[in-house]
Amino acid sequence: HERMNVKLLLDQVIRVNVQTEDQIRVLQDLEADQEQLDFWLHPVSTELPIDIRVPSSILSSVKSYLQTHSISFSVIIDDLQELLDKENAEMKMNQMKERSTKSFNFGAYHTLDSIYRWMDSLVSQYPHLVSKQEIGRSYENRPMYVLKFSTGGSKRPAIWIDTGIHSREWVSQATGVWTANKIASDYGRDSSLTSLLDSMDIYMLILANPDGYVYSHTSDRMWRKTRSRNAGSVCRGVDPNRNWNAGFGGPGASRNPCSDSYHGPAAHSEVEVKNVVDLIKNHGNFKSFISVHAYSQLLMYPYGYSCNPVAHQPELDSVGRAAVQKLTSLYGTRYKVGSICRIIYQASGGSIDWSYNLGIKYSYAFELRDTGRYGFILPANQIIPTASETWLALKHIMEYVRDHPY
Ligand SMILES: [Zn+2]
Repeated sequence: HERMNVKLLLDQVIRVNVQTEDQIRVLQDLEADQEQLDFWLHPVSTELPIDIRVPSSILSSVKSYLQTHSISFSVIIDDLQELLDKENAEMKMNQMKERSTKSFNFGAYHTLDSIYRWMDSLVSQYPHLVSKQEIGRSYENRPMYVLKFSTGGSKRPAIWIDTGIHSREWVSQATGVWTANKIASDYGRDSSLTSLLDSMDIYMLILANPDGYVYSHTSDRMWRKTRSRNAGSVCRGVDPNRNWNAGFGGPGASRNPCSDSYHGPAAHSEVEVKNVVDLIKNHGNFKSFISVHAYSQLLMYPYGYSCNPVAHQPELDSVGRAAVQKLTSLYGTRYKVGSICRIIYQASGGSIDWSYNLGIKYSYAFELRDTGRYGFILPANQIIPTASETWLALKHIMEYVRDHPY
């Protein structure tokens, strides 16, 4: 009996499969009413699964609510804490190993401090290619660093890559670290990348939401937003990917400061967003803007705030499809390609809509592995495979940008 009671007290992640529009509305009502529920994938269409992290305290009531409405579901993570404990133990082990071997393990998750130290080592290893620039400070006054890959010139056409704007999507930041190392070490060895860097610069912001990232390590692994205070609310943080000046405040963003998709009091209210806006605008010669998220295995282009096709839809779609073909060629990982609005849901205030409207034609967003087996708690042994396959898609997009100047 004791064992059964323990079993009942576990946070779980369930996958709901809705069959009708009515059932979607039931789930949407549930999301609006139950702030304790953490929707990893939101209820939008009968085509897409809905993943919900359900705290143990309301697990049985949520399950019976679904049963009452004849909505089927399955448990995809039956013991979330077990996965979190495992992830934490692996990190601790790896920290000890890295200390004793004085090496950096790209197949492990790292803290902000550890990633920032690694950045310095990358710069000192490749001083003629890589530099580190502080683009500003976060809400909690942490420096925000971009790694700039450049072989010279001034304000050359440039490619932007950010990872980790949503802090809990850890495979994103880890992929950013691996990718930066790949770019640095392949320059001079890979002829295509070398020619690219001989005419263009690459900027990488690996920790786009530093406060959220630290918080996801120290307090709440599931934290997604920034950590700014909201006037008149006890809830903290703004969804930094609903905060850009592109359809700001429209559908697919919440006005509720307690929501995980809260858009914030005004466009660019989040200093982490403003720092990027200022850098991109001051530079003025970015040709591609790529933002990396997890999870769902998607490659998306604008718009999110509108389902109308953008002017360059056919080109963005065909480049995206070719990029994904490269990605899939490595391990067979399947991706879908499309506009944010059509492929997932209408979401306003997103970064790639802003960059596209600014004139950066090749604006893309990735949702990396997986499709829900582990969700945000992707095991560290999938970091290098994920980064390696993603690199093939990134490289395809960057080569295309190099070969199609505008
Ligand atoms: Zn995200």
